[in-house]
Amino acid sequence: MTLTYETHEYDVIVVGAGGAGLRAAIEVSANGKKIALVCKSLLGKAHTVMAEGGAAAALGNVDPADDWKTHFRDTIRGGKTMNNWRMAQLHAQEAPDRIKELEKWGAVFDRTPGGKINQRAFGGHTYKRLAHVGDRTGLEMIRTLQDRGVHMGIDVFMECTATRILKDGDRASGVFAYWRESGRFVVFKAKAVILATGGIGKAWKVTSNSWEYTGDGQAMAYDAGAELLDSEFVQFHPTGMVWPPGVRGILVTEGVRGEGGILRNKDGERFMFKYLPESTKHLFADTEAEAKEWVAATLAGHSTTARRPPELSTRDNVALAINAEVKAGRGSPHGGAFLDISYQDADRIKKKLPSMYHQFKELADVDITKEPMEVGPTCHYTMGGVRVDAESQMTKVPGLFACGEVAGGLHGANRLGGNSLSDLLVFGRRAGLGAMEFAQANGDSKIDEAQVRAAADELTAPFERDGEGPYEVHRDLQDIMQTKVGIIRAEADLQSAVDELQKIKARVAKVSVSGTRQYNPGWHLAQDLKAMVVCSEAVTRCALQRKESRGGHTREDYPDYDAHWESVNSIVRKDGNTMYVGTEEKQKMPDELVKVFEGGK
Ligand code: FAD
Repeated sequence: MTLTYETHEYDVIVVGAGGAGLRAAIEVSANGKKIALVCKSLLGKAHTVMAEGGAAAALGNVDPADDWKTHFRDTIRGGKTMNNWRMAQLHAQEAPDRIKELEKWGAVFDRTPGGKINQRAFGGHTYKRLAHVGDRTGLEMIRTLQDRGVHMGIDVFMECTATRILKDGDRASGVFAYWRESGRFVVFKAKAVILATGGIGKAWKVTSNSWEYTGDGQAMAYDAGAELLDSEFVQFHPTGMVWPPGVRGILVTEGVRGEGGILRNKDGERFMFKYLPESTKHLFADTEAEAKEWVAATLAGHSTTARRPPELSTRDNVALAINAEVKAGRGSPHGGAFLDISYQDADRIKKKLPSMYHQFKELADVDITKEPMEVGPTCHYTMGGVRVDAESQMTKVPGLFACGEVAGGLHGANRLGGNSLSDLLVFGRRAGLGAMEFAQANGDSKIDEAQVRAAADELTAPFERDGEGPYEVHRDLQDIMQTKVGIIRAEADLQSAVDELQKIKARVAKVSVSGTRQYNPGWHLAQDLKAMVVCSEAVTRCALQRKESRGGHTREDYPDYDAHWESVNSIVRKDGNTMYVGTEEKQKMPDELVKVFEGGK
């Protein structure tokens, strides 16, 4: 039977229209290439729009001592040295220009009394570094990038899901996709493809991520022959909502702690003082009085020699601390901790944290200007991802690029808050440049009809089968990932998760859906499940392999850092029908950067 599909041809096709995809597309378009964006949901509805606290860049507007070297040092320290050093260097050096550029394009950031872009404190950042717009920074960022992209005439294909990278020999030649509304097939032929599809959080039960984050980009890259890097490093953000059950996991921005929010257990103890790692203790206030002095200076808008409150330790550390308090029976009534900002002026709270005020009022009937919030860890971000070249963001597959959360390397074992929004800008631009140059240097690619047919057959297979539906399989997958590959891990659980994931994989291969291809959410989920299983298996196998605890990977049975594991990255690639999981020696940091990391200027 003849297969019907529409075909669109571009120099570069970008899959994903969050901050990374938009920034990449703008760069390609600015260089005169024909470009289109494909996104699973509506334009503007990406994770980036949900970002609250801010974008990290060493502008030095509030703390003039800040510079790229300190930002680099903080990023590597926060990432427990697992970061790709070159990406961390480029990110720290280029982030200020990317933020200023965004302002030139119309982003209206909060201001200092002197009229500069204001910057707030966040965990792990030595200085006040996050450019922000209240707690709606992502919204302003997306609005600005979207306006600019639309005015440049970038074509956008909305509610269109990409499922496969098409190849011409070794190189990427396009993307196979389908319209979510009609189920009709689409082929995008391109000289280069950029993946900017975001994270994988929907594989866990408690997550801050929305329905779109099913690891499609990671799975497409893996299937196309690219490698995944350090998949075990998954960030559990310490502060998600824990009550009521229907909203469990929704993010409570780190901005609350950045503005002076205090964490306490059920006995009223400010417990973070006792959870600071020895190596970073000197950076934090060790008394309530000193922490109070820091907050007072922050509220007054001047810098201070007082050290940061302990709540501004890195996310991995705060999440583990809350977890430990709950385990010890000192948690809040619904299994979390109390986060309190209500001691501050109510109008200021509403001005600096308007979304949090409304979120708690409307979803939990809690007035955060009068009472503490109940918070606990939630699966939030994936540090691991598609392995890319630091300069160009190209994967191992020629012509296939990845940027933003789908790519691995920059954040090492733990991402600092605010470093994602600046990552999107810095590496979105670089991916755009890389893809543009690749398209320029390489001629037209061919679309292989057999690959298109195989992708179409794979997509429609669930209609031909009579078996279980996708929702139950998704629930069981989330249960496994939540209970066995969560914040604290152990050999027996991980091994059992690997075994159970094989069974889930077999069930996914037999999932059946009813109805037609039009408006069929069950069918969409059947497709998403394939990607979630690939990503879940990669995370679990890498977590089993890494026999140490580091950043977003904590092993109960190997609680310490280990020098061997510090020296290697985890690598995943497709090997026939099996998943290869191994390690590779980390690239050594050059001496001049070692000096910067150790504190030299
Ligand atoms: P996204 O913005 O996630 O965009 C992904 C795009 O890919 C979407 O358009 C989606 O539709 C599309 N897509 C996915 N799969 C497909 C497919 N198969 N086919 C077609 N399209 C597809 N970071 C910070 O630095 N500071 C913060 O303050 C901050 N706050 C956050 C608050 C929340 C609630 C959350 C969830 C995250 C926050 N983060 C923050 C993290 C940050 O927002 C994300 O890491 C970042 O926005 C990811 O951007 P991205 O462009 O890589 O992907």
